[in-house]
Amino acid sequence: MSATLLEGAPLAEQIKAEVKAAIAARSQAPKLAAILATDNKGAQFYAQSQGKACEEVGIDFELVELPADAGQGVIEAKITALNADPGVTGIILLMPVPEGVDGRALQRAIDPKKDVDGVHPANLGAVVQGSTTLAPCTAQAVFALAKASGVPLFSVPADAAGKGLDVVVVGHSEIVGKPSALLLLDKFATVTVCHIGTKNLKAHTTKADLLVVAVGKAGLIKGEHIKPGAVVIDVGINRVKTEDGKSKIVGDVLFDEAVEVAGQITPVPGGVGTVTTAMLLKNIMDAAALRG
Ligand code: NAP
Repeated sequence: MSATLLEGAPLAEQIKAEVKAAIAARSQAPKLAAILATDNKGAQFYAQSQGKACEEVGIDFELVELPADAGQGVIEAKITALNADPGVTGIILLMPVPEGVDGRALQRAIDPKKDVDGVHPANLGAVVQGSTTLAPCTAQAVFALAKASGVPLFSVPADAAGKGLDVVVVGHSEIVGKPSALLLLDKFATVTVCHIGTKNLKAHTTKADLLVVAVGKAGLIKGEHIKPGAVVIDVGINRVKTEDGKSKIVGDVLFDEAVEVAGQITPVPGGVGTVTTAMLLKNIMDAAALRG
């Protein structure tokens, strides 16, 4: 058996086209302010790609660069100023922040209506109530890919009666695992969340019609962990060394084995990450709409 690739690009292009059309219909372009207060290369790269993605759909982008030793007070003062700035639609604090800075406290300082990363407790709380407006981008990407795969998701309990999907989410982080589980639970899936404390990971994952893996450990999920025909959504991004001394990006799922067992599988790169970027643009559009 060889799984069908569940690629991110077609879905991402569709979302970007919708965002572009919605933005073109507005009298003023929305603006994303991305705060970069770190020397971390990953964060710098992510900031650059956010800028490019915004440009593609007509969103203004401002990179707010602060020195890596700026400290909590200076970053928080910047967030307060951006919260008050009517020209700013969305604010992102690029992670990781330097040691000694409380990133979570800074995320809480962002106005929930401008929190386009979906990390403020108010927006995470809204996910519990089934809202996807300003939900974390990666969780929305997982949900959209699940939907695109064609697995049955139900809006009405009566329709779902006895037919709900068995979903297993591996990883329980605040921004990926937990909100992904909640979004799928809202569609009457029976969701099991596995984590570092799970006794027998394979016993759970082999029952999953839909397996979502968001851990950050290359090759954690092998072919033997997957139910034949299952849909596998691999969120992991890991840089590994290749035999020739170079490096490459892989997911948490051992792709070569998984592809022989799964029915559909997201590639890494080219799967969840692509859709996550598009979801950020959608959140900026939604944040603009929240302001009227
Ligand atoms: P995270 O905050 O580090 O969370 C990882 C989760 O995996 C934690 O819940 C952790 O549990 C659990 N875990 C660790 N070892 C495990 C094991 N052996 N078995 C089962 N669960 C285990 O990471 P994250 O932010 O959720 O990101 C996860 C991965 O997705 C990373 O590779 C990240 O780079 C990637 N990512 C990709 C995108 C994208 O757009 N594609 C976006 C965000 C993140 P404990 O906390 O209990 O240890």
